[in-house]
Amino acid sequence: MKVITTPDPRLRTPSKKVKKITPETHDIIAKMLKASLDWEAKHPHELSAAIAAPQLGINQRIILVRDDLENKDNQSFTAFINPEVTNTEGKTIKDYEGCLSVPFIYGLVPRPSKAKVKALLEDGHEVRLRASGYLARTLLHEIDHLNGILFIDHIKNDKKAFFRMLDDGKIEPMNYDTEIKDNKELFPDD
Ligand SMILES: [Zn+2]
Repeated sequence: MKVITTPDPRLRTPSKKVKKITPETHDIIAKMLKASLDWEAKHPHELSAAIAAPQLGINQRIILVRDDLENKDNQSFTAFINPEVTNTEGKTIKDYEGCLSVPFIYGLVPRPSKAKVKALLEDGHEVRLRASGYLARTLLHEIDHLNGILFIDHIKNDKKAFFRMLDDGKIEPMNYDTEIKDNKELFPDD
């Protein structure tokens, strides 16, 4: 299954709650894992930190997050079903984010440094996470996907927040006025 990219409207569609965890749910999670690792195999300079079901065109509230966000050799991920942000706190911090569904673009996105998240695991057990740093950022990014929100939406008026990744993995600023502002691929509803 292919990862869909902007301006596909399914990325802007709020996803539905999973009412019951069924074999179909496990199948979606398996597809998400495969799509994530396939994407990474084709992007040698990047790490696939997480993926949300809508990125496969499946509007269900499921996300998959890598267990070790800094180690490409560790390919294990955990699925969270119906994840909800129950609280955010801490300072707002800007850091780089990319997205499988927004090719080549990186953004300096402000997010709270800590988040509490409640979700179901694949076996149906409820978990509560207290995340900080890059894990908090990743969870907030993925849960945004379930609400039809992309990282670029948080920075759409920030002229200095957009960057592109070059073939060699280096990052350079993009020209906001010519490449971002009126870009209908990124902001189709504006
Ligand atoms: Zn994303």
